Amino acid sequence: MKRVILIGDPVAHSRSPALQNAAFAHLHLDVRYEAWHTPAAELAARIAALRAPDILGANVTLPHKTAVIPLLDKLEPEAARIGAVNTIYKRQGKLIGANTDAPALLEDLRVEGGWHAAGQQVVMLGASGAARAAAYALVDAGVASLVIANRTLERAEDLLADIVESYMGDMQDATEPAPDFPDTQMIALTLDDSDLPSYIASSTLLINATSVGWHTNETALPDPPVSPGALVYDMVYRPTRLLRETAARGARPLDGTGMLLRQGALAFTCWTNQPAPLDVMRTALQER
Ligand code: NAP
Repeated sequence: MKRVILIGDPVAHSRSPALQNAAFAHLHLDVRYEAWHTPAAELAARIAALRAPDILGANVTLPHKTAVIPLLDKLEPEAARIGAVNTIYKRQGKLIGANTDAPALLEDLRVEGGWHAAGQQVVMLGASGAARAAAYALVDAGVASLVIANRTLERAEDLLADIVESYMGDMQDATEPAPDFPDTQMIALTLDDSDLPSYIASSTLLINATSVGWHTNETALPDPPVSPGALVYDMVYRPTRLLRETAARGARPLDGTGMLLRQGALAFTCWTNQPAPLDVMRTALQER
């Protein structure tokens, strides 16, 4: 019996055990996914415990996605740039940190939303961990503009500065700009900035990456003026007020269930080197 561990605080309400155990069972893999409630003071000991040979790897959730980084042996380049790890796997006994949230979001936008990033105008609400993963993914994928609106302006500005610096880092020692230096126009605003409505109206994608939306009537931004046909993506994986209000304006609502599914599927492949049974995992999520 091998094990995969979920490390976070809290973990009791996570859907990942149902998602992953359904996949292991479907493929007759002798692997069990366990949730380990991990206060910050115990993080280092928990990561050290992952080195046991019967453990294939882990997921990392709030509040440890950044704090875990110095405890690992190596990071995938994308996780290093984003500064957040949600998946740990092993290669030659080393603990490798990855971020599967970013590619999962892009894949879900493409497959479920029919939305392709290149050349698009995007507004994102939020500038914390999930927003960071999304921002790097969107800029890397070539969006024309990215407006980050956050309650605390400084965090949005810091995120944009980090993205620019990560590209400058790639350019170190180069005599010319790297060919993949982004053309993206990047703007940081507060949620109550008077320019935000016009940016929203001209965007093809509005993303909620704040933690607001889990309660039925809460929203980070009441009734934003999205254009008919725009995609509205809420990382919160339930029907939210934002999705209801923007659907009433003719936008296309999509909640974050698909991102949750796909980040789990990518992590599954890191641990097992096998394609994930996506339909089985989707059904397991719906059954919860
Ligand atoms: P987090 O760190 O708690 O996010 C905090 C963000 O929400 C910050 O930008 C914060 O603004 C903003 N915020 C908090 N309260 C607010 C309020 N009352 N009004 C306006 N803004 C407010 O969480 P996270 O890890 O980044 O995750 C964000 C959301 O994405 C969560 O709901 C999480 O469950 C979801 N998520 C979903 C997936 C998926 O697979 N679907 C994956 C990852 C995350 P300040 O900076 O001003 O504090």
